Amino acid sequence: MIKKAIYPGTFDPITLGHIDIIKRSMHVVDKLVIGIARDNMKSTLFDDDERKALTVASLQESITNDLYNRIEVSLFDGLLMNYAHEIGATTVVRGLRAVSDFEYEFQLAAVNRQINEDIETVFLMAGDKYQFIASRFVREVARLGGDVQKFVTPCVLEALHKKHA
Ligand code: ADP
Repeated sequence: MIKKAIYPGTFDPITLGHIDIIKRSMHVVDKLVIGIARDNMKSTLFDDDERKALTVASLQESITNDLYNRIEVSLFDGLLMNYAHEIGATTVVRGLRAVSDFEYEFQLAAVNRQINEDIETVFLMAGDKYQFIASRFVREVARLGGDVQKFVTPCVLEALHKKHA
């Protein structure tokens, strides 16, 4: 078991794809910190606090208490590697969708390794049903009035409706 890992991302908003990766990572990680990157440029659809609240609420809606007790959701700013070191995480969890994610994730992991060699990045694959889900598509489809019920939790669905009301 990996003692403590961080799953970093923007989570704008959290999707069923993210939740699938979180559930899978709980098989190999004892304590998982979901690190939500603060947005200093204000370019996200949901602000820092909204992204955090939606992540917490979505997890409460979709995973057991046993799992939830091993998870912490926190906002962070600055370099991921500094934050990981600060909280004592030995591992970074990232999700891989299609081949399209590979190049970016490969470079990011390489840069992070240059910054701190002691922290490993591990990759997990979402289940078939979730592989194609991406926050940016959820935002776009919701903005255009499409139905995103299959991709997000009920609380995120409601939050998207409110944003676009
Ligand atoms: P970022 O802005 O850092 O890409 P995201 O919130 O979009 O953050 O995603 C965080 C992590 O979750 C990334 O590693 C991303 O590849 C992964 N991820 C997102 N959606 C899925 C999915 N449907 N299947 C697998 N991994 C996913």
